[in-house]
This record gives sequence, C-alpha cells and structure tokens, in this order.
Amino acid sequence: MKLLSLLSTFLKDDQISVNATVLEQHSKDESYHTPHDPDVVVFPRTTEEVTKIMQTANDLEVPVIPFGLGSSLEGHVIPYHGGISIDFQLMNKILEVRPEDFLVRVQPGVTRSQLNKELKKHGLFFTVDPGADATLGGMAATNASGTTSVRYGVMRDQVRDMEVVLADGRIIHTGSMTAKSSSGYHLNGLFVGSEGTLGTFTELTLNVYGIPEATLAGRMVFPSIEKAVTTVTNILHAAIPVARIELVDARSVQQVNKTNETNYLEKPTLFVEFHSNEAGLKQDVSFAKSIAQDNDCEEFIFEQDTKKRALLWEARHNLAYSFSHGSPGKKMMVTDVCVPISELTGAIVDARKAIKTNGLDGALLGHVGDGNYHAIVMIDPTDSEELDRAMKLNQHLVHYALERGGTCTGEHGVGTGKAQYQQKEHGPALGVMKSLKLTLDPKGILNPGKIFCNRSSS
Ligand SMILES: Cc1cc2nc3c(=O)[nH]c(=O)nc-3n(C[C@H](O)[C@H](O)[C@H](O)COP(=O)(O)OP(=O)(O)OC[C@H]3O[C@@H](n4cnc5c(N)ncnc54)[C@H](O)[C@@H]3O)c2cc1C
Repeated sequence: MKLLSLLSTFLKDDQISVNATVLEQHSKDESYHTPHDPDVVVFPRTTEEVTKIMQTANDLEVPVIPFGLGSSLEGHVIPYHGGISIDFQLMNKILEVRPEDFLVRVQPGVTRSQLNKELKKHGLFFTVDPGADATLGGMAATNASGTTSVRYGVMRDQVRDMEVVLADGRIIHTGSMTAKSSSGYHLNGLFVGSEGTLGTFTELTLNVYGIPEATLAGRMVFPSIEKAVTTVTNILHAAIPVARIELVDARSVQQVNKTNETNYLEKPTLFVEFHSNEAGLKQDVSFAKSIAQDNDCEEFIFEQDTKKRALLWEARHNLAYSFSHGSPGKKMMVTDVCVPISELTGAIVDARKAIKTNGLDGALLGHVGDGNYHAIVMIDPTDSEELDRAMKLNQHLVHYALERGGTCTGEHGVGTGKAQYQQKEHGPALGVMKSLKLTLDPKGILNPGKIFCNRSSS
C-alpha cells in the first residue's frame, strides 16, 4: 500500500499500526455512534513528523483524523471514510511551566490530570475538567468545559496560543504568550472547537491559576428543579464567586446512591464548591445558605475535609460511567444543549416529560451556572426502535433549545451527532464556516464528515 510505504520513510515501525485491535480502538468514541476502522494509526513524536504525515495525506488525498483519548461523545474521532488516525499519546510532554506568567506550554497528548499533578508543585492548577481524563489537544478541539466553567471559563478562555499544522503541512501559531491581544483575527477562537477539521494542534499555551487558599464543597437539596435553579440564579445575581454549581435531578441522585456508598436524599440537588480565602469563604457560604433557605432548601451539607470533598465530586463526575456500567451491552447517548439561564427550568422540566413520553429511562444533570444541561439515556444501538426513540428525544431537546436562543451543544461539540442541526442553528453563518474550511483544507482531508453533514460539504 502506497500510504504505508510513504509513512514508513519517516516514522519508525512502532509508530505505525495496522493491528486489528489498535484499528478497533481508534474506530469509536464513548458513545452510541457506529464505529468504523481507520486504515492505519500513527503515533508521532514531533511536530516535524506531524507535518510529514499531513503532507503525505494531502498529496494522496487521504483523510486524517486527530485522536486524543477518544472520550468525545458525538462520533468526533470515528474515521467514517477510513484514512489515518493520528494518536497523540506519545506527544505528552509538559514543555514549560511559567508560574510568574500564569501559563504553561504543553504537547497535545498531555491529559488534564497529568498537568494538574505537575502544576500542584507550583501552587497552580488548570481549571477545565470534563468528566473524562481527556487530553488537552482533544479538549481544545472540542472547546470542552465542565464544572468549574461558571467561575473560570471554558477551554476557549484558557488558550493563549497554539502551534497548528495545517492540511498542507504549514505550521502556524494562533496567538502569543500574553494574557490578551488585539492583534489580527482571533485565530485561537477559530481553531479551538474546530474538532480536527481545520488543522492538528501540536502545542498549546494555556492559562493556569493559583490554588485558592480555602475550598469548601457541599450539597443543597430542594423540593423541585424550579427551586434549585432559582437558587443558582439568585447566587449568581448576588455575585457570590461560586466555583462550581451543578444540578443533579432525583434520578441522578438515585444512581449516585446505587454506585457509591452514599445515602443522599433522592431529590433535586445542587453540588456546589466555593474557592476563596478563609474569611471570604465563611461569608460566601453563609450568604449562599440564606439564599438557599429562602428557596425552601431541605438539606444544606458542607464538606471541608479533602477526602469527603473528593468523594462528592467523584460521585458527580462518575455519574455517566455509573449509568453505563449499570447497563451492560448498552451505549450512552448524552444530549448537551445549552439555553439562556432564564429558560433552564422550563427546559429541564420539559426534558423530563420528553424522556417519559419516549418511553426511556434517563437522568438530567447540568452545569446550571452556564445554562448547560445533559440528558443521559442508555440505549442498545442495535435496537432500531429504541435508537429511534432516543433520536426523537435528542431532536426534541435540541429544537426546544434552539427555539429559545440556545445552542445544540454547550460543550461536547458537533461531531456527526449534531451536524444535522448546524443549518438551523447558524443559518447563513454556516456558509461562512464552510468557506473557512475550504480555504484551510481545500481537499477536505481533515476529519471529513464532522461538523458539516457530508464529506463534499466538509
Ligand atoms: C463520562 C464522560 C463525561 C464527560 N463530561 C464532559 C464535560 O463535562 N464537559 C465536556 O466538555 N466534555 C465532557 N465529555 C466529553 C469529552 O471528555 C470531551 O469531548 C474531551 O474534550 C475530548 O478529549 P479527548 O482527548 O478524549 O479527545 P478525542 O475524543 O480523542 O477527540 C475529540 C476531538 O478532538 C480532535 N482532536 C484530538 N486531538 C487533537 C489535536 N491534537 N489537534 C486537533 N484536533 C484534535 C479529534 O479529531 C476530535 O474531533 C465527557 C465524556 C465522557 C466519556
């Protein structure tokens, strides 16, 4: 095969794999989307090697699919047209930590927990925390966010600069080392969230933050979703600097209790965390408590103990996995819409009804401070009738959000699963996105079929 012999001119044998198991590992993500094998998986170590891979693919017009950890949820890494899956696991070096500049330079295969372990030595931390221990390249490519985004922002807010290898092998930088810049177009903004369709990231310069002096986490339990969401809005209005504020519905708490040794009240609950100094923390918590009590909060429990706090967030982060482990043979469908916060209560109440109408079992949870929520349903993708009901639910939730000024994805990205909603959400702006894609990737080799509906339009 011409492709393999060209790749072997600059990659070592152990950097190229056509092993069936390795191909299968790179054929899927964590979701219900149908897998498809790449032709080959490569493991570059340097930007120079990535450049040569891209030039080879571009010359032969072979698809290239960047691969981080494969934890995405909308079919992002599935090579529907075969081609080269570029796995960045060997590009996993933390290149530079500059505490005085509050920045770090990393290769794309570094995972967030790997980075935080290193940063801890400097009294710093990296804020974005999607449930999976994803790579920073993958997180930038999906504009990931998580529980702390209400306070620190999403992945796009953390990226100062990226080294990107374009489809034709050119290497560019999208920003600078500075905390801000008004120079030229905002290429960071364009490439973050581009899902491997505009270029491959070979280096990232990211913001990091000082570890707060004091942290307190806890749970607030409410009689209804409405009361819980109103509490969130009131806390944000009061400008209490809450670092995390997560809603889990009664079904989710039930699942938490099933999988963990917890005995939480099975009612709508907010998992919260405050970051401050000792004095500020006391004031913030007591203010938040009085707001919660005004909204009929039934239980208000705080954990200052590091272990108990870790257990609380572990239970929250592992919720999706606890559903998937509890449903052998089934796959996860996680919808991820985001609405203006004033629409959130209505959206969640409507979603609960829609889950029931479609005869499904599912949990509702969300990063409520951002207006972002998920419905998790476990489905058997080979059961076309069940899949159809799940698709109807997904479509209903997306249309509900779009009709209220929302978006079809707050953080998971488009992949193939949300491509069908792009026209409705973006209208003529989708044409502008296609023009950008065509300029940067005229042969359509970069992650074809993602974001846009088919390869020719991708
Ligand atoms: C249980 C669970 C919970 C989750 N919770 C959240 C959450 O709260 N918030 C959230 O945002 N996400 C969440 N996710 C989704 C997921 O973790 C993110 O999408 C993650 O950001 C993807 O990172 P990855 O390393 O796994 O990338 P992959 O899945 O491997 O790739 C994702 C995309 O990035 C592209 N890509 C990867 N590396 C590069 C690179 N070097 N250059 C260019 N493109 C690249 C790929 O082509 C693909 O399009 C969750 C997933 C799971 C399984």
